[in-house]
Amino acid sequence: MTTKCAVITGITGQDGAYLAQLLLSKGYRVVGVVRRSSHFGVATHRLDWLGITDQVELVDGDLLDLGGMCRIIREYKPVEVYNLAAQSFVKTSWAQPSLTAQATGVGVVNMLEAVRLEAPDARFYQASSSEMYGLIQEAEQSETTPFYPRSPYAVAKLMGHWMTVNYRESFGMFACSGILFNHESPLRGLEFVTRKVTDAVAQIKLGKMTELAMGNIDAKRDWGHARDYVRGMWMMLQHDTPDDYVVATGRTVTVREMINVAFEHVGLKADDYVRIDPQFFRPAEVDVLLGDPAKAKRILGWEASTTMEEMIREMVDADLARHSPPTA
Ligand code: NDP
Repeated sequence: MTTKCAVITGITGQDGAYLAQLLLSKGYRVVGVVRRSSHFGVATHRLDWLGITDQVELVDGDLLDLGGMCRIIREYKPVEVYNLAAQSFVKTSWAQPSLTAQATGVGVVNMLEAVRLEAPDARFYQASSSEMYGLIQEAEQSETTPFYPRSPYAVAKLMGHWMTVNYRESFGMFACSGILFNHESPLRGLEFVTRKVTDAVAQIKLGKMTELAMGNIDAKRDWGHARDYVRGMWMMLQHDTPDDYVVATGRTVTVREMINVAFEHVGLKADDYVRIDPQFFRPAEVDVLLGDPAKAKRILGWEASTTMEEMIREMVDADLARHSPPTA
């Protein structure tokens, strides 16, 4: 029996690393697309953290290069393609709107084209985002809630989402769009709010920092663990029919509450260290995100298994370990 091959774009990111780990555990041959970096080895730090760098095949590629992506799909003939690559940080999308439109929007078109031309039977997953809801139209956001994107990132993601739906309906491709709400882990980038908090709390506890500067701590988010969410991606591609799914916990909490969990875990009080700094406010805020994962539960049998509190404590512990001097 030949080994099933999966191609992951964005394998060096948080989700790419956890997804690669999941697929390896299921016996897949995992091929990851990596942008060329002038720092050899730096790009694989998340795969290194999970101890799987040697088990995946990394190939040079950029989402903006259609020819290159076609070559990769032609060479490896994957049965599943997970398009996780993107300029994924909302704040940066205002500073680099054109680049974000290219990587996060047009990049999806390139991947869909590469699969349609070179491996039309492959199953395709697109990493869509709850940020597409933006200015909220319904208290709980489901697959039928209207979108109203509030950042260049969200607008670009919406393009990718509709292109995925369009290729499914136009060409009969097995293409799924996962509308994922925020998901975090010890592998989250330091620029994202949860990791910014857990890293700072660890450093404050160890006496390496004295305060934590934050933006809008009244914003509410539905936070889950990346490990649970990559399982949802895989489950979408195992189902009989392609469709779009919200992946969320169904519970929303304020940034303030999340911060409190992190400080309490190390025996400190958040009020003693948190300072509000307007430079961290977004030009247009998304106030409340709350996902309704009922469809994913009903059709795929997917459910989140990690609470926000468990996840934040795991992240604080990982950051404490990172910042602590190695023991002899
Ligand atoms: P990360 O920011 O951790 O990873 C993004 C990945 O995309 C990195 O591997 C990066 O490579 C790669 N990348 C960026 N631009 C290109 C390009 N032009 N060509 C090839 N690769 C590129 O994101 P996450 O893992 O957190 O998220 C995965 C996907 O899910 C993203 O598309 C994100 O927008 C989406 N998403 C994430 C959510 C979350 O809460 N985490 C919520 C909803 C959607 P490099 O290492 O070289 O920078």
